[in-house]
Amino acid sequence: MALHIYNVLHREKELFQPLEEGRVNMYVCGPTVYDHAHVGHAKTYLSFDVVVRYLRFRGYDVLYVQNLTDVGHLLDSGEDRILKKARQAQARPMQIVETYARSYFEDMDALGVVRPDISPRASGHIPEQIAMIETLLEKGHAYVSDDGNVYFDVYSYPEYGKLSNRRVGEQEAGTREDVREDKRHPEDFALWKKAEPEHILRWDSPWGVGYPGWHIECSAMARKYLGDTFDIHGGGVDNIFPHNECEIAQSESANDADFARYWMLVGSLTVPDEFGIPVKMSKSLGNFYTIKDALKLHRAEVLRTFILTSHYRNPVVFSEEALESASKGWERIYGAVRLTREKLRSAEEGDAGNAFLATLDKTRDQFIEAMDDDFNAPGALATLYDLTREVNTLLNSGQAVGKAVLEAIDTTYRELGGQVLGIVPEDTAAVMGGDAERQDGLVRMLIDLRADARAAKDFATADRIRDQLAELGIVLEDRPDGTIWRVD
Ligand code: AMP
Ligand code: ZN
Repeated sequence: MALHIYNVLHREKELFQPLEEGRVNMYVCGPTVYDHAHVGHAKTYLSFDVVVRYLRFRGYDVLYVQNLTDVGHLLDSGEDRILKKARQAQARPMQIVETYARSYFEDMDALGVVRPDISPRASGHIPEQIAMIETLLEKGHAYVSDDGNVYFDVYSYPEYGKLSNRRVGEQEAGTREDVREDKRHPEDFALWKKAEPEHILRWDSPWGVGYPGWHIECSAMARKYLGDTFDIHGGGVDNIFPHNECEIAQSESANDADFARYWMLVGSLTVPDEFGIPVKMSKSLGNFYTIKDALKLHRAEVLRTFILTSHYRNPVVFSEEALESASKGWERIYGAVRLTREKLRSAEEGDAGNAFLATLDKTRDQFIEAMDDDFNAPGALATLYDLTREVNTLLNSGQAVGKAVLEAIDTTYRELGGQVLGIVPEDTAAVMGGDAERQDGLVRMLIDLRADARAAKDFATADRIRDQLAELGIVLEDRPDGTIWRVD
């Protein structure tokens, strides 16, 4: 089977055929950098990380562009997210952007997410955005309002709504956003906004001093780096409307060409609300766990395993139990990798146990079959769990296994589990000797001693362990299923 992708644009799985053989041009909507990234962001960017890793594993030359939004993404109140944060922190907007852009890359690096080839910023591409708006005005797709704002006229683009399956004018009157007086139609969206005197993110333009609307940045930057038509456009499904829909309308109207050929959207990561109903994790709702906090409790490989255990298109509920189960799964795989590498150190030359190579071939075939089916990572993971069972049986059987076979097992784990899924570390020694591992082992030992002290009703010792750890900034949390620790 060749690679098939579920194309949101046509709502079906399609054979993947890039525009240029062997090459993939891909754009993914990046974060708005006004706060630390949360685990919901990790789901989206880790999913595309595996997409890019797999495409490269399959031999494609991938050019991966992912923007950073640092201007124009407004809150429902109409305030720019970056400006609001800057005001609260009494900092310059670009200080905020710099702080959180660095924080984002730090988190992505820690998660083993391969950096995009180009990470363009909206504020660095104002001339490109202005040029595109001018084209849209010339072609009659946009208009300048009396107030000095520029809007896209959604009625000028008959296909508006094709991605999210909406039709213009279909929204109920009551749910329409405020009908702005200077818009021709309520659905028209801003390309350029006039800046009020207090709005300090501002640039000169043919329409006066102002700032771009949010959507135009992606159209302008995708075009600059990937051309009018490119292969894959990705993002979180929550941005399908209006953001992605507006990108398509702007680009196809300005360029007179198709925009992205395959649209891949990632299901949201949710957390249960007070009634137990899953709600999207989001910065503006305040129901988020930052990646930094999650990484204090769990290894990056465990977070990756947790996210890859569901198909990228599905929503996922974030819970400690799900992470615990991912942790157990990862430990199983990693245990077999460690055992293989330990045995390799003293293995004899020769091809004893050669029959196992057929199992490795089968694993590889099934892994590729799963990933070729719209990047089915849970299916691919399942092949590694199956392999792990067989590897454990082989290595614990007492049967002689030669160096060649052990090397082949290690290579299979490295390529499929490491290179593609990013859950098998290159170097076992680094994991075993790493500070994080050692610290975790020490804290867990103290947690066990505290549990023993409590069981013996020696509460003074139990409290001393907890308090002294707290002094070191390590907080213990007792939960029904055991005690966990985090760095405060
Ligand atoms: P934002 O920083 O809100 O602009 O979001 C950046 C990207 O992360 C977008 O593609 C969103 O769709 C995605 N994203 C935000 N929250 C979540 C979530 N809870 N689950 C999955 N993806 C998300
Ligand atoms: Zn975008």
